Amino acid sequence: MAGKLYIVATPIGNLEDMTLRAIGTLGSVGLIACEDTRHSGRLLKRHGMSAKLVSYHDHNKEQAAGRIVAKLLDGEDVALVTDSGTPGVSDPAYLLVNLARSEGVEVIPIPGPCAAIAALSVSGLPSDRFSFEGFLPVKTGKRKARLEGLKDDPRTLIFYESPHRLLKTLTFIHEVLGNRNCVIARELTKLHEEIIRGNIEELIGHFGDTKPRGEFVILVEGNRGSK
Ligand code: SAM
Repeated sequence: MAGKLYIVATPIGNLEDMTLRAIGTLGSVGLIACEDTRHSGRLLKRHGMSAKLVSYHDHNKEQAAGRIVAKLLDGEDVALVTDSGTPGVSDPAYLLVNLARSEGVEVIPIPGPCAAIAALSVSGLPSDRFSFEGFLPVKTGKRKARLEGLKDDPRTLIFYESPHRLLKTLTFIHEVLGNRNCVIARELTKLHEEIIRGNIEELIGHFGDTKPRGEFVILVEGNRGSK
């Protein structure tokens, strides 16, 4: 009989944000696929666990997925984790999930932390409808086209961004979407967690004065005229 593939959410900063089910699952599988074996090794150690780790990331996903599915078809239970949060949110988990499912392997979610959802939950922005946009494309033309396509969207927009592109991205969003209400969630669940609210011009001013550091989620109010 084939093993099962568990998609396990892990903390986005605070290592105590592990669910009992995540701990139980990672402690029981024969193999854990992860982005960075050293990073995930530290998480396992923190919870008194040890398991065989194999790497599965953007640069080896095709070959690694084939090897992991072969283990599953051999009867081994496998867990997939990423460096942080829920696998499949801005990372290549979908490819392994797809291949496993196409081979008849059962895929089971073990839900938990996700930066986008944690940020939305404290943003105070409408959350009945939202659009997760992940990272905007790096190339200017593609970034502009993506944002132009969101101009009339009434839903709250959620973006991920790295610290060195934060200001540029806020300026770009301001240019295309206008001076909307915005929330920036920084370093969620960590020592320097910050939730900053304001319009985009105010937030550009804030981050113009202090060099952005850490991990960021940007939430932008949807187009209020098109509800
Ligand atoms: N799978 C993850 C999840 O469930 O949120 C997302 C992984 S994505 C590759 C990494 C991006 O998520 C970061 O660049 C940042 O934009 C966002 N992120 C992750 N952890 C965060 C945190 N603690 N605070 C704010 N943003 C975070």
